[in-house]
Amino acid sequence: MKPTTTLILGGGFGGLATAWTLRSLIPADHKIAVFDKSDSFSVGAAKTWVMVGDKSRDEVSRTRKNLLPQNVEFVEAEIEGMNLALGEVHTRQGVRKGDFMVIALGADVNMSAIPGLQENAQTFYTLDGATRLRGTLADFQGGDVVFLIPRTPFKCPPAPYEAAMVLESSFRKRGLKGKSRISIVTVEPMPMSTAGPEMGSFVRKLIEQRGIAYQTLRKTVRIDGPNRKILFEQGDPVSYDLLIAVPPHESPHAVRDAGLTNESGWVPVNPETMVVSQGQSSIPVYAVGDITSVQLPGKFNPEVSLVLPKAGVFAASQGGIAARQIAGRINDKPVSDVFDGKGFCYLEVGDDEAVKGEGSFFELPHPMMSRHEADQAQYKDKVRWVDQWLAGSFPELLAKEKK
Ligand SMILES: Cc1cc2nc3c(=O)[nH]c(=O)nc-3n(C[C@H](O)[C@H](O)[C@H](O)COP(=O)(O)OP(=O)(O)OC[C@H]3O[C@@H](n4cnc5c(N)ncnc54)[C@H](O)[C@@H]3O)c2cc1C
Repeated sequence: MKPTTTLILGGGFGGLATAWTLRSLIPADHKIAVFDKSDSFSVGAAKTWVMVGDKSRDEVSRTRKNLLPQNVEFVEAEIEGMNLALGEVHTRQGVRKGDFMVIALGADVNMSAIPGLQENAQTFYTLDGATRLRGTLADFQGGDVVFLIPRTPFKCPPAPYEAAMVLESSFRKRGLKGKSRISIVTVEPMPMSTAGPEMGSFVRKLIEQRGIAYQTLRKTVRIDGPNRKILFEQGDPVSYDLLIAVPPHESPHAVRDAGLTNESGWVPVNPETMVVSQGQSSIPVYAVGDITSVQLPGKFNPEVSLVLPKAGVFAASQGGIAARQIAGRINDKPVSDVFDGKGFCYLEVGDDEAVKGEGSFFELPHPMMSRHEADQAQYKDKVRWVDQWLAGSFPELLAKEKK
């Protein structure tokens, strides 16, 4: 085959995994270019550490270019549009044409989607947000702290539960426990509902053991800043002194404008091959990670269909699959590897302890998740995993994520 060009849009978990896997599988004269609007990569799982002041933002970020393998071009540019019929991406720096495309643009967060949220809430979901919140928490002397989950889906379903428990542990160490109340108010029916009711009860018990109050099925309508109240579609308002929100998520506009999203607002893909299943294109187009909507075959409730949670481990293993699919075409070899819906997640519970959940989301009759009681060994495993991403230890990481 004559030399090809693969355009990888987004250099986060999915984009980096795609680039590393593909570079290892195809001849050097086939080009790979990774586009990202930011030259700085950070690990989401480390943002709660920034929030409570355990790590600085520099300690959890790296220059993206340095995390890419040799012989992969990095283009720091915002994708403004794409013309898939012509195999093109459009940035301010010009138009690039490719023979293969992998869309790994993640999920944008939008605090303006709910009236009053942007002005009155803080967040640990972005590095800027976690850094700002760290300053607020350092000055905090007590009061009602509310973690608000106003909309689904959101990245890393355990993250707000983890953040509340990590904050509870920090307040205890600072002597603020008696002077503050932490609660979680969510639109969800239970924590981590895609992992099932047993996991939901397990997480609920963990937060309640720590004195964290919990309200479910509360859909936020707006925030009344002057009176420090959260207003819901139904039921009484909730008062707060410090409001910490999981921002509503949405797909980047370039993807929506290209007609690649369905009614979910995300990009539907073949769950095994990650081939985009919507839109007209002249080249093979794949999508991986948070940008996708991967329908699950199983259900816990016949009335409620499920989609794969948004998580970095899935983005990385899906990137590996998209890369293998492309390499198979370039090398003209059949590919048997498919995405198997398996992955793991960490849930820190404070005091340097964590639970590692191992999930198999394509199981029937419903997704399965196994886990152990929290301990320090699982926390150390999480720290090691984050360090490997920051060190760019991709061969080890991708082997682990593929397991
Ligand atoms: C607080 C928190 C804790 C988390 N903890 C975990 C965890 O423990 N385990 C886990 O597996 N996951 C965790 N996650 C989730 C994980 O970070 C995401 O699921 C993962 O980053 C998704 O990878 P991705 O490649 O799809 O998107 P991203 O990693 O977000 O990468 C997308 C990239 O696209 C770029 N981009 C977006 N739009 C454009 C554009 N128009 N032009 C150019 N570039 C663009 C962005 O700059 C970004 O670099 C956590 C997330 C948060 C917020």
